Amino acid sequence: MFRYSRQFQYAFIYFLVIASVTKTSLFLFRNDLRLADNTALAATFDSNQDVMLLYIHDDSVTSWKAGSASRWWLHHSLLGLQQLIKQLGGQLYLRRGNTLSVLREIIHEANVNRLYFSRTYEPAQRQIEQAIYDEWHDAITVKRYGGYLLFEPEQIKTGQGAPYKVFTPFWKSCMAQVEPLLIPRATDFSSCRFFRGNIRSDSIDEWQLLPCSSDWSPGLRQTWQPGEAAAQQRLQYALNHILNDYAEERNRPDREGTSKLSPHLHFGELSPVRVWSDVKQFIQVGKLEKDQAMCFLRELGWREFSAHLLFHWQSLPDSAFRPEYKSFPWKQDVAALTAWQTGETGYPIVDAGMRQLWYSGWMHNRVRMIVGSFLVKHLLIHWREGEDWFWDTLVDADLANNAASWQWIAGSGADAAPYFRIFNPVLQGKKFDPDGSYVRKWVPELKNLPIRYIHEPWAADVVTLSNADITLGDSYPAPIVTHEEGRKRALAAFEAFKNG
Ligand code: FAD
Repeated sequence: MFRYSRQFQYAFIYFLVIASVTKTSLFLFRNDLRLADNTALAATFDSNQDVMLLYIHDDSVTSWKAGSASRWWLHHSLLGLQQLIKQLGGQLYLRRGNTLSVLREIIHEANVNRLYFSRTYEPAQRQIEQAIYDEWHDAITVKRYGGYLLFEPEQIKTGQGAPYKVFTPFWKSCMAQVEPLLIPRATDFSSCRFFRGNIRSDSIDEWQLLPCSSDWSPGLRQTWQPGEAAAQQRLQYALNHILNDYAEERNRPDREGTSKLSPHLHFGELSPVRVWSDVKQFIQVGKLEKDQAMCFLRELGWREFSAHLLFHWQSLPDSAFRPEYKSFPWKQDVAALTAWQTGETGYPIVDAGMRQLWYSGWMHNRVRMIVGSFLVKHLLIHWREGEDWFWDTLVDADLANNAASWQWIAGSGADAAPYFRIFNPVLQGKKFDPDGSYVRKWVPELKNLPIRYIHEPWAADVVTLSNADITLGDSYPAPIVTHEEGRKRALAAFEAFKNG
């Protein structure tokens, strides 16, 4: 008995000594929920120490908390990541709380002497990064890496050393760089040493990221497969089946003409550098036509540009980039806003887009522009209302892209559409959904209307409407404002504002 307890004591002391000398490298996942092409993660494993993988759900951040659709995506993406890490013999630790407080605990408990993460560009996240540096850089090694963008915002400057405000010269300057960040070499996970200490991890269900009271997510489940594996599959699918016709098809919401990579890119399940280099490789081996591919890469350029704007103008999501727009006389109109949000405006292409968004958490870019223009011009409702609604409902909700795009539509942005550019929803519908199949899919009550009237049911005679089982104002709404009236009102408001 005595001998046994002596041995036990020695073992315990040995364990304490080992534990106190064994140092841990901590990797903090952020908007880089992937194992492949992750420079910061590869560097963590290079440290040749035990590696602890951590994700902190920081709901102490007060501005632009993740919206409902983003929370749904995050839940599933983290589950997928947990599974991948488990297959490699490791564990993804989950903790909820203020990032700094959680880090304090973990750094102490796991004996961390190295901390690694990828940088992000949202103002609140930048503050967190700064606070981490301020608190820890004297005590432990803190390393931050790129990977969310192709080019770092500090890297692209005008001849005068200022940030760009206009897309075309910005993208030209990007394209003049040698190449974007290099693809990190593949990490050999078989030789990775994972941290095995006894440290608490939350269960993801405790975070209640999924809908609680009523389940509005069946459409999301049916449309998407979050996670790194699905992101890679989607990229391959886009490369092989979509991008060769991208320039012609990208404006057609009735067809599968775009990559649908946006949520995967936003959550970092896929690196833009990987997308860039795979596209370039497909061009090289003759599988992709250069013009089509460059047209697609240019859209990635808009993603870069939005991040660049947000990085240099941190108030972009909250207030007009052009200061004069801060006093624009937006209208308060709850009924019109609700009609817009629920896809009941009486304009088929607008309603189809808003219903696609509600069901699937995504909307085609062309239709985002149409519904956006309708909100801020025809209805004269503040672009912030549209931004908020998109923030809550999009699975790809991205602070930079969303804010920059809304300000572009409203005319208050950096490189914005001129205020007199007011989309006609009927003409847009006829041009980009010529046989109305997009409308028929998302607004089924109009499915029996002849093509001629599908984008303007009010123009059909009573017999045609009756044959299609439609009673305007009952089975489908009459337009909440006529295009002529909405256009005139918008032009008058913008003229008065400009001259006043
Ligand atoms: P693809 O056409 O296949 O493009 C490839 C990638 O390039 C996209 O995944 C995306 O990362 C990027 N991209 C494409 N178009 C744009 C663009 N105009 N601006 C910035 N990046 C672009 N995109 C978001 O990712 N998050 C948002 O919150 C968001 N809000 C928007 C709000 C409005 C009002 C508008 C008009 C556009 C918004 N966009 C947003 C941009 C664009 O609509 C989406 O990125 C695109 O529809 C995603 O589909 P895709 O992946 O098939 O795009």
